[in-house]
Amino acid sequence: APAPPPSRHLFSDPAEVKALRGNLLAWYDRCKRDLPWRALAATEPDPDRRGYAVWVSEIMLQQTQVATVIDYYNRWMQKWPTLQALAQASLEEVNELWAGLGYYSRGKRLQEAARKVVSELAGRMPRTAEDLQKLLPGVGRYTAGAIASISYGQAAGVVDGNVIRVLCRLRCIGADSSSPAVIDRLWDMANVLVDRSRPGDFNQALMELGATVCVPKVPLCGECPVKQHCQAWRRKLFGNPPKVPDVEDCGKRVGDCPLCPPATEPWDSSLGVTNFPRKAAKKPPRVMRTATCVLQRRGCHGALEYLIVQRPSSGLLAGLWEFPSLPLAQDLEEEREREELADHLQAWMGRPVAAKGLRFIGEVIHIFSHIHQTYVVYSLPLDGNVTLDPALAPSRWVTEDEFHASAVSTAMKKV
Ligand code: SF4
Repeated sequence: APAPPPSRHLFSDPAEVKALRGNLLAWYDRCKRDLPWRALAATEPDPDRRGYAVWVSEIMLQQTQVATVIDYYNRWMQKWPTLQALAQASLEEVNELWAGLGYYSRGKRLQEAARKVVSELAGRMPRTAEDLQKLLPGVGRYTAGAIASISYGQAAGVVDGNVIRVLCRLRCIGADSSSPAVIDRLWDMANVLVDRSRPGDFNQALMELGATVCVPKVPLCGECPVKQHCQAWRRKLFGNPPKVPDVEDCGKRVGDCPLCPPATEPWDSSLGVTNFPRKAAKKPPRVMRTATCVLQRRGCHGALEYLIVQRPSSGLLAGLWEFPSLPLAQDLEEEREREELADHLQAWMGRPVAAKGLRFIGEVIHIFSHIHQTYVVYSLPLDGNVTLDPALAPSRWVTEDEFHASAVSTAMKKV
């Protein structure tokens, strides 16, 4: 078995844990933001609906800012106030409401899981983190802990990006915070720390602290309710980095401690508390180039209409609608790009499309989490009707207003 980590990285003093919980909860009671899912979790008497309300918020908040989520959340809960209502929705409706929120598979999985709760669990939400994670597709350890603690009062810790940052600073954890060894320690820590009588509030307080005070670049340590428990803050104040930092910190040889910064990247006093957390360098995003064509015609009422086609039901932006598009090889000459797009449209429409008839409009760059995408945008006005080969993809003509109300991605709106 691996040796236990040095105590400076743990919360081993019960008196300190008690004081930290008290300080953090008192701050949360004073300073927490009013958010619609918090109001619902606090007042909803029906436990299944309470769990559902928290679940929806947690899924929407993954990788997305609170300010962006609020409006989507309110519209979602208005449209589908219960699991049963969501289970009856179509995927198209879910995608339409989700349009612009990003990471589209989240909405789809939420709906699939709601169907499962209704059809296989008689509409009853699992009540513990273990069951939530085991029984609900798309619910991982974090979401399960959040739902169980906030909706059902289970003393389960949570670890998300905000909690990782706060805990790494509180305990000077400088090893790669995305490594399994560190993540395991952080979960242990979160489970030790969580307040037994107010677990949901405690978890939300820890995340709120990370979101509003212990922020990534310029943390507001002076206002922090737990600064007296923070090893990184203490080190910044009383610093004088020792000559051999890790020996002094952990009583071990440099490089032996699995949670200290690696010997090759010791504490940097110019960074202060932002020495923590540390992450292995991210892989650079994949660079992609896609030709996209806005086909337009006059509809029967004289308004301009645009052709959109549906993407495949799996993979990036699954099931969403877009202008006909074609991924391009890198470094193609412009002439060649245009020809490839014309060939592609020709195969689709079953009639000749001249490359020089495509009008170049400009380029749109959109950054997905792992893809740096450039859309090379063309337009092509058409006379009369065009039928696309339905075997290739479902398609439809829409007005500009209908386009904006459709399940289309932010990238396509930019186009
Ligand atoms: Fe974060 Fe600073 Fe508070 Fe420590 S004192 S937890 S670094 S805000």
